[in-house]
Amino acid sequence: MTLAHPRVLTGDRPTGRFHLGHYFGTLQNRVRLQSEGAELFVVIADYQVLTDRDVAERLAEYVEELVLDYLAIGIDPERAVIFTHSAVPGLNQLLLPFLSLISASELHRNPTVKDEIAHSQQAAVSGLMLTYPVHQAADILFCKPGLVPVGQDQLPHLEATRTIARRFNARYAPPGSPVFPEPQALLSAAPRLLGTDGGKMSKSRDNAVTLAATEDETAQLLRGAKTDADRRISYDPVGRPEVSSLLLLGALCQGRDPQSLAEEIGDGGAARLKSTVTDAVNDYFRPIRARRAELATDRGHLRAVLTRGNARANEIADRTLAQVLEVMGMRY
Ligand code: ATP
Ligand code: MG
Repeated sequence: MTLAHPRVLTGDRPTGRFHLGHYFGTLQNRVRLQSEGAELFVVIADYQVLTDRDVAERLAEYVEELVLDYLAIGIDPERAVIFTHSAVPGLNQLLLPFLSLISASELHRNPTVKDEIAHSQQAAVSGLMLTYPVHQAADILFCKPGLVPVGQDQLPHLEATRTIARRFNARYAPPGSPVFPEPQALLSAAPRLLGTDGGKMSKSRDNAVTLAATEDETAQLLRGAKTDADRRISYDPVGRPEVSSLLLLGALCQGRDPQSLAEEIGDGGAARLKSTVTDAVNDYFRPIRARRAELATDRGHLRAVLTRGNARANEIADRTLAQVLEVMGMRY
């Protein structure tokens, strides 16, 4: 397949280890797109950790863990640009013109930001919490991608990014030669996998099964997952969201559809559902977990991947910033 826009950008917060929601929500799509020829950019959004907490803890450790997982799932470090946005000044400077293109009431209406404020560890809502979707527009637009593979919670941010690109072009770009593309979000078959408490599986909410978990940990966590009392297992994402999310997880691991898995489990109840899904998860992730353990022995390699990615991201951000300053009349 040839991609219309061969550049793909996506990213993650260094707030903990990757979980199954990340894998089936976005990571798997990244690997697929790269294998189809996409030039993959992965931003590790370290400043964004400060949106919902005062201090970004264990940053260096979490950044390294994310790089480790990227390589373990099959992202090719020779071709992908993996970088931390704090290391790319040109990208960060795009935030200023972009902030001028969005209204305060648009920022206040963002549904994902509202949900994150509800789960925030901070007593007061910071300016960063409110404006980080604009910073994210800079993360995305600096490299002018066509596609952004993300989970469902990112759709409002992608819409804000598209709005900013459109408004920037309309205000500053010469007619017929836009500076920025309007990138498309790419959702997967599992755009919002649920955690063991029935809410969105999240690194920060203590409800996740990580890619790095052992088989026993996986079994224990899934045994504790919230379900319902109906012994007959059925796939009904609206009526039975927790049961259906588990079915979807098991089905994705086995490369089949969730309805057929539900029929196979039949009247087995939550216990049979959970043990089936546990086996499916452990079978699917066994080779990835083994590769992860192997890669973890060479920390120098992980740091080198990041150093190279940061250098490449800076080259591209500097070029984009020069173009932005040019069309804004700020080259003196
Ligand atoms: P945190 O709780 O710290 O915000 P997170 O689990 O939400 O962590 P992020 O780093 O914010 O993870 O998100 C990285 C990417 O993974 C985003 O594209 C996001 O949409 C996707 N994602 C996160 N959680 C899920 C989920 N439960 N299902 C599907 N996709 C998800
Ligand atoms: Mg998040």
